[in-house]
Amino acid sequence: ELNKSVADKIESSDIGAFLSYAAPDQQAVKLSQDRYDNNNPLPLDGVPVGIKDNIAVKDMKLTCGSKILENFVSPYDATVVARLKNAGVIIAGKNNMDEFAMGSTTENSAFYPTKNPVNKDYVPGGSSGGSAAAVAAGLVPLSLGSDTGGSVRQPAGFCGIVGYKPSYGLLSRYGLTAFGSSLDQIGTLTNSCEDAAFVTGLMMGADIKDSTSSKTEPDNIKNFKPLDIKGKRFGVITESMNHADTAVKDKIKEALAGMEKLGAVIDYVSIKELEYAVSIYYIIAPAEASSNLSRYDGIRFGLQPDKSKPHDAKSIYSDVRSKGFGEEVKRRILIGNFVLSSGYYDAYYKKAQKARIVISDKLNEAFKKFDYLITPTSPVLPFKLGQTIDDPLKLYTSDICTIPVNLAGLPGVSIPAGVSNGLPVGLQIIGKRFDDGRLLGTCEYIMRSI
Ligand code: GLN
Repeated sequence: ELNKSVADKIESSDIGAFLSYAAPDQQAVKLSQDRYDNNNPLPLDGVPVGIKDNIAVKDMKLTCGSKILENFVSPYDATVVARLKNAGVIIAGKNNMDEFAMGSTTENSAFYPTKNPVNKDYVPGGSSGGSAAAVAAGLVPLSLGSDTGGSVRQPAGFCGIVGYKPSYGLLSRYGLTAFGSSLDQIGTLTNSCEDAAFVTGLMMGADIKDSTSSKTEPDNIKNFKPLDIKGKRFGVITESMNHADTAVKDKIKEALAGMEKLGAVIDYVSIKELEYAVSIYYIIAPAEASSNLSRYDGIRFGLQPDKSKPHDAKSIYSDVRSKGFGEEVKRRILIGNFVLSSGYYDAYYKKAQKARIVISDKLNEAFKKFDYLITPTSPVLPFKLGQTIDDPLKLYTSDICTIPVNLAGLPGVSIPAGVSNGLPVGLQIIGKRFDDGRLLGTCEYIMRSI
């Protein structure tokens, strides 16, 4: 019944949170019912789940929000999807997203934009905007997204829900369409941190198909509990507050005051190098993307070339990529090829790699003094639909708070910090690498108490 009503709700909703969905798989529903009747249900038996459309689900479309993969159907399950299926979930459908996860509004989807369910004149954030909107609108209790520079946390912040990006390596990336492989991590969009921990516990664990996946099991993920913040030290990153609009800053300060009342020790920490984080990211991510996206060549899979045109390799590439990729994706491929080309490699790419290490070192240094670091999730409130479509630079700079976390491979959570002018504000809490469980326990305690 639940799964049937989800399909009906998706069908009648007007926020465009899903790119594809299907009536629930009857065999899966029956098996789930049988287990329930036999008093032997799986941990997430029958729970409908949304999956961002860059994560592979067997026999469902995998468009990545792009025309170049419009009709591509995945022949296999991503590891996280296989593990969720083993826990009994029913896949409700595939969530809308910015093309190849490049963007912060979900307006870069080649198909249609997603609307923010809190106020439909506004964007839900991105690139996992469909996943966030689906949970915020109550269509599904859980969606998976991907986060390369903030794409799980920022839409969670914009939609007023919880977005969790695990430590790099905690979840297998097998079956996640690669964007910036050294930054990409699958994450969860949920209504609580407890839910995030629960599903992560079911998905984590080393995977032979992703050599960067880790067997580390953070404390407090399984056997989760909210963790008291009394006496815990939180460092608010000064630069992130300096960049934030007043409407955002005020809400964050209210949350900090609430935490102080609960006994948390709040202090400010300056990390000047964060000013370079956006520049570093917008060199490294496009460089990796330009390499990863070279597989879309019109030959092996995806959009095929016009058969009446010349058939040499160069003509095929140019025909298919001109038609299949959107403007932002082309821009990133061009930037990526530029920073990797001889003569520029040392000046841009190599320098960015060195600077990335500095950011990572500075953040880890701050953890000597603090248990957790804090920033607004986004320095600005959600944009109006159409507001930033011609201003990529404005969008890039709005990633300032989330990007450093990916550069350093740390876990980060966005939790709701109230509403300003009718629009949600997200508070980001950052933890030490592989301290994900305690981070989520702390966030859950804060959410319940302030
Ligand atoms: N907004 C960032 C970008 O466009 C982050 C995207 C992401 O995390 N996938 O690259």
